Amino acid sequence: MSDAIRAAEEFLAAHWSPTADAVEWYERVVDERWSALRWPTRWYGRDLSDEQATAVESVFSRAGAPGPGQDTYNLWAGTMNAFGNDALKEQFLRRLLLDEVAMCLLYSEPGAGSDLAGLRTTAVRDGDEWIVNGQKVWTSGARDAEYGMLIARTDWDQPKHRGITFFWFPMKQDGVEVRPLRQATGDARFNEVFITDARVPDTHRLGDLNGGWWVLQTALAYERVAMGGSRRGTGATRGATALAHGRIPSPDTSLHELARSVGKAGDANIRQQLMRLHCMRTVNDWNGARATAAAKAGSSSPLASLGKLAMANILHYAGHLQGALLGMEGTLDGRQNPRARDANYSQLNAYFYSIGGGTDQIQRNIIGERILGLPKEPEVDRDVPFRDVSVGGAGRHRSIS
Ligand SMILES: Cc1cc2nc3c(=O)[nH]c(=O)nc-3n(C[C@H](O)[C@H](O)[C@H](O)COP(=O)(O)OP(=O)(O)OC[C@H]3O[C@@H](n4cnc5c(N)ncnc54)[C@H](O)[C@@H]3O)c2cc1C
Repeated sequence: MSDAIRAAEEFLAAHWSPTADAVEWYERVVDERWSALRWPTRWYGRDLSDEQATAVESVFSRAGAPGPGQDTYNLWAGTMNAFGNDALKEQFLRRLLLDEVAMCLLYSEPGAGSDLAGLRTTAVRDGDEWIVNGQKVWTSGARDAEYGMLIARTDWDQPKHRGITFFWFPMKQDGVEVRPLRQATGDARFNEVFITDARVPDTHRLGDLNGGWWVLQTALAYERVAMGGSRRGTGATRGATALAHGRIPSPDTSLHELARSVGKAGDANIRQQLMRLHCMRTVNDWNGARATAAAKAGSSSPLASLGKLAMANILHYAGHLQGALLGMEGTLDGRQNPRARDANYSQLNAYFYSIGGGTDQIQRNIIGERILGLPKEPEVDRDVPFRDVSVGGAGRHRSIS
């Protein structure tokens, strides 16, 4: 037995109880360096290899103890760990691992979604700071966010992917106006963000000047691993990932219960569909384990795209099944019809997985090019200085580094 496994077992024997106070437990897991096992010991990790880390995570999982694995799914902390300077890490890493910093993603713009490298929000250097102007859209959680991960154009004379810089951007300042957008589900979780002469210190830059596209690839890889669902039930802290985009989907077991409660648990057709859903989830969990192993320190793995696409299919399938189980009742809605309201919500909310974090079509492009080895999508503006690229011209999508 390895030292790491023995130490994990001793830690759990000394401290874990299913009735432990959640806040105290997560603090202990983070402070005693069990939450991000592959990271350096200086930054809350244990410098373990992926194989050792996976073995230790299994020890926690078998004990039913949440906490480890944040090095593979915590988008904010993972990006900070990979690209933040020491001062930023001192300031934020622990709070991020404890999910104490409300964050948002300032990527998409009215003219730059799939073609994210077409962004036009600008950051201009002013001494030790940058002045930011532009508009972002579909920004989940922006109203409460303390900071946003912002990509902005810092050099218009470089080709589109090369003139972008990545910032840890303070949201609570003059010059940042957040306007909520109403979603099909009735929620208003995402927003427009108007940025006018707002400031961000150069010390809040992640990665190199004009090297933001590569930082973004790491951040997107974390998002896809999380949205692929591979970390389901293994102890994610509250909202540490892109799951903040929508309500966390209900597991299959609730559909089994629903089937029983509407008297359809014995229906052969329904049983087949429940089983199919279970198989889809199980296979996706296996793919998720592969994607997590491949992503390790946050490198961009196309397997995460496979998982994200599969999870979108699973949620659409589950939503339709939930509606079908209710039959005519599923056409109702409103507070007085909670089961129908829940089914309607599931069906609409499934679209957040098909669009947020890169659409299904974009994931298919990645899978085609990087897994199946199909020819690359034509790209006429890759080497053209960005100021010469026409607005709305042929573009390249957010997903290919
Ligand atoms: C619930 C939700 C939460 C979100 N949260 C955030 C957030 O917090 N921060 C943020 O920055 N963004 C967020 N987004 C935005 C999201 O990332 C974008 O909506 C997404 O990337 C698509 O961009 P777009 O809406 O501009 O569509 P477009 O890029 O205009 O795409 C329109 C259609 O064309 C297809 N398409 C485009 N290019 C290609 C191509 N090359 N090949 C094949 N098909 C293509 C797309 O698949 C899509 O069907 C969120 C979106 C949703 C739905």
